[in-house]
Amino acid sequence: MGRRKNNQSSMSLNNAQHQATKICFNDDDEEENSNLDDSIVATEKAIAMDDVTMSDPNGSFVDGGDDDNTSADYYFDSYSHFGIHEEMLKDVVRTKTYQNVIFQNKFLFKDKIVLDVGAGTGILSLFCAKAGAAHVYAVECSHIANMAKEIVESNGYSNVITVLKGKIEDIELPVAKVDIIISEWMGYFLLFENMLNSVLYTRDKWLANDGIVLPDKASLYLTAIEDAEYKEDKIEFWNNVYGFDMTCIKKQAMGEPLVDTVDQNQIVTNCQMLKTMDISKMASGDTSFTVPFKLVAERDDYIHALVAYFDVSFTKCHKLMGFSTGPRSRATHWKQTVLYLEDVLTICQGEALTGSMTVAPNKKNPRDIDITIKYSLNGQRCVASRTQHYKMR
Ligand code: SAH
Repeated sequence: MGRRKNNQSSMSLNNAQHQATKICFNDDDEEENSNLDDSIVATEKAIAMDDVTMSDPNGSFVDGGDDDNTSADYYFDSYSHFGIHEEMLKDVVRTKTYQNVIFQNKFLFKDKIVLDVGAGTGILSLFCAKAGAAHVYAVECSHIANMAKEIVESNGYSNVITVLKGKIEDIELPVAKVDIIISEWMGYFLLFENMLNSVLYTRDKWLANDGIVLPDKASLYLTAIEDAEYKEDKIEFWNNVYGFDMTCIKKQAMGEPLVDTVDQNQIVTNCQMLKTMDISKMASGDTSFTVPFKLVAERDDYIHALVAYFDVSFTKCHKLMGFSTGPRSRATHWKQTVLYLEDVLTICQGEALTGSMTVAPNKKNPRDIDITIKYSLNGQRCVASRTQHYKMR
C-alpha cells in the first residue's frame, strides 16, 4: 500500500531548520474529515490562482542587526531564527488563508484595534494594517521581533503597527481593550507548544466585550492507517542495527508521535472528529480531555497506526473560511501526527476499532503533550485490546 509522501525521519520539533514543506495537491476530497471542505477548496483555488512569489530570505537579513545571536539563542528559542518563519510564510495554505480572511472581510478590521499574539515577522499585523485597522499591536517574544520592527518600518506602517517585544503575559499595552485578537498559535497535533493558553490569557485580559478572536474554532480529528512499510522502517529498524539489539530505542520511538505526511490511500477507516474548541469561549483547562472514538473500516486491511490532524475556522467571516491539515487536504507544515500501535490489527470492512484518547499538557513542561490511547477490536480475524502512552516533546 501507499508510502508516506515525505519519507523523512521524525522531525526535531524544536529545530529551527525545518525542512521545506513539500506541496502536494489532493483536491479529490469527499470525506467527512472536515466541515470546511467548501471554504478550503475556495481557499485552495485562491492560492492556485494567485501568483505567490516569495522573496529570497537570504538577501533580506544581511544587515539584520541580530548578528549577536549564537546557536545557543536558537537552541532555546527556535522562533528567533528566520528559518522557521520562512517555513511558515511559505506554507501557503496557512498564510494565504489568513490573508484571505483579512482581505476578504475588511468590514471586520476597518477602524478596529487589533492585537497580534506571537507576531513573528509581523505578517498578520501587516495584513490587518493593509485591511484598514486603526492600530495593530504586534507582540512577539523572540528576537525576530527586531526584524518585525524593521519590516514594519520599511513597509511604511510604523504609524499603524506597534511592535512590542516580550511575552504577551508580561507586556503592557497602551490601551485597555482591543477589538480583535489574531494569532497563529497552532502547533503539531494542534496543541503542541501550548500557545493556545497565551491566546486565552490575552482574550480574558484585553478583548472587548463585543470583540472577536481569529481564528475562533479548532477541531481535532482521528483516523486509522495501513503503514506496514514505514512502521518497519521507523520502529522495527531498532531490532537489529548493524547486527546489534537497540530495542530500548524502539520503545521510545513507539511512545513518540511521528509528525509526517500520510498518503490518503493509506486511510482504512472513517475520519472522526474528536474535539471542537471554541477559542472565544473555552477555558484553558479545556485543553485536557478524554474523548471516545469509533473508527469503522471501509475495506479489509491492516491497521498499524492512528493518525491525528486538525482544522481551524474563522466563523466571523462573511462566509465560513478555514483550512484542514488532514491527509486528504493540501499538505501544510503541520503534516499529520502518527501514533503507532503495538499490535498490527487485521480489520474487516464494517468492523469498528473503538476506544478513547486522553490529551493533557505535560505536568512538568506544559508545552509538551501527554496522550493516552485505549483501543479494542473485537473482529472476525483479530481480537486486541491495549492502552498506550505517548509523549510529544
Ligand atoms: N504570526 C506569525 C508567527 C506565528 S508562530 C506568522 O503567522 O507568521 C508563533 C509566534 O508566537 C512565534 O514567533 C513565537 O515566538 C511567538 N510566541 C509564542 N508564545 C508567545 C507569547 N507567550 N508571547 C509572545 N509571543 C509568543
